[in-house]
Amino acid sequence: LGQPLFTGDLSAVDVSFEFFPPKTEKMEERLWAAVKMLEPLAPRFVSVTYGAGGSTRERTHKTVRRLLTDTNLKPAAHLTCVGATRDEIDAIIQDYKEAGVKHIVALRGDAPDPSTGYRATPGGYENAADLVAGIRKIGDFEISVAAYPECHPDSPNLAADLDNLKRKVDAGATRAITQFFFEPDQYFRYLDHVRSYGIDVEITPGILPVTNFEQLKRFAASCGASVPRWMADLFEGLDDHPQTRSLVAATVASELCRRLQAGGVNSFHFYTLNRDELTYATCHMLGIRPARTADLPKDINR
Ligand code: FAD
Repeated sequence: LGQPLFTGDLSAVDVSFEFFPPKTEKMEERLWAAVKMLEPLAPRFVSVTYGAGGSTRERTHKTVRRLLTDTNLKPAAHLTCVGATRDEIDAIIQDYKEAGVKHIVALRGDAPDPSTGYRATPGGYENAADLVAGIRKIGDFEISVAAYPECHPDSPNLAADLDNLKRKVDAGATRAITQFFFEPDQYFRYLDHVRSYGIDVEITPGILPVTNFEQLKRFAASCGASVPRWMADLFEGLDDHPQTRSLVAATVASELCRRLQAGGVNSFHFYTLNRDELTYATCHMLGIRPARTADLPKDINR
């Protein structure tokens, strides 16, 4: 009562956006439309995920190269240790260096066959920490790594998870981006643990604006993230109401960001899923406006 609806400092917020490499022409159009809408928000960087298999990987390289040549954005290329030798991965890093890519998101990746558990490729990098050290030898990249507020599913406990994050930072990582989460306290508790371990790099919360709740449940189960009961309640009955679902999704993402912001967070990484609307709306609620009036999107409701 008597408090303004919105509080907090709307000025000093940094954002970054994550995209995935498109598979089809239609997805390609969708991606570049999203990039065009989000570029005026002047993100610190935009990252492009990396998959298994040669063709997916080539799409990542192609997308990163196009971001470099066709936009003013600073692309960060995701890279994993899966299915390639050190020499092969080093050649990719060298190519990125020569192309002018200055930021790599270094990851271990997942086992191609989930039933066998992760095994390093013979002659390859062992894990993300090992990859970070390899990248450091090749160039002066900014290096981001993954962090898990709810622990990585392969970690026996939180201490092992934090040891692993510390190894990545000691090897040269300059930032960690978290797996998505929905309760602000999960992030704040994790941050306390991270700091008590002497890890002092930025821990950027990964924000997933949810559009498809059923898909979220499947995805969350595979990567060890929890989906709170209240989210199921919020999305209940909306399967055939995409517009309402979007309004609810934007509210949930904005509320999460604003609570994080109230707790002192001023950098956010958005898993855009190559869609601009929810990310744009959430950034707007955080006080972010297009860099120039001329860049104002004509229609953010398409
Ligand atoms: P690591 O940090 O190397 O390790 C993960 C876990 O493995 C550790 O917590 C630990 O339990 C265990 N471990 C590793 N090394 C050791 C060791 N020496 N001793 C004991 N235990 C060890 N996946 C993709 O395929 N492509 C992407 O583009 C991609 N982008 C991502 C972006 C973000 C921000 C996040 C959070 C995840 C992303 N992922 C991506 C998923 C990621 O590849 C998986 O979560 C993977 O299972 C772990 O990768 P990591 O880099 O966290 O691994």
